[in-house]
Amino acid sequence: MIKKILIALCFLSSITCSGHGTSVLFSNENKPIYESSLCVPGDPLPQMVLIPFFEEASQIVPNCKTYPKYMTALAMMVFYHKWEEYFGDSDYAVRGMLQKVMIQWGTTKKTSKRGFNIHGEAFTERVIIGRVEAKNIIWVWQGYNHKISQSALMHELVHLALYAKNGSPDADHEGSKYKGWTFAHSLMIDDAKDMLRAFNL
Ligand SMILES: [Zn+2]
Repeated sequence: MIKKILIALCFLSSITCSGHGTSVLFSNENKPIYESSLCVPGDPLPQMVLIPFFEEASQIVPNCKTYPKYMTALAMMVFYHKWEEYFGDSDYAVRGMLQKVMIQWGTTKKTSKRGFNIHGEAFTERVIIGRVEAKNIIWVWQGYNHKISQSALMHELVHLALYAKNGSPDADHEGSKYKGWTFAHSLMIDDAKDMLRAFNL
């Protein structure tokens, strides 16, 4: 199934899948390691699972349904495909970030003491659905209707991509306090989410 989806991704996109240039397809050289890295029902939770195709990338799952690793891997490929399309990645900074990202999935939303909305307006004490925890670590609530496309995964990955590119995650989004995030980044997220929905993610 995943193979078919990947082939479809190649045809759908104008990127090369031959290994030349920046391909959305990551190699799966560590396949034996990924195959043995599974969420084990009955074992204590949360559990850490390696994400196939992305070298050292991992996810911390609160249960074995949130989310199967192949779903997260596909979502990350969709993210990279869209990032490439919008912004390019000539120095591979975003690719490198994806290869060591840790995604901590949550089943409940959190409250943040302070932050910024998408327009750069500051808020205090607000319910949040995602957060940058460190340079390569994000916490993401599982999403409405248990869909990755309805979660903040694409949004938080944009923060980490900007962190990798510019040294700052740009906490105020489209606001002018921090540099990096533009309207195009917000558009890219919508576009990526549409593509996730096309794969029923
Ligand atoms: Zn944000």
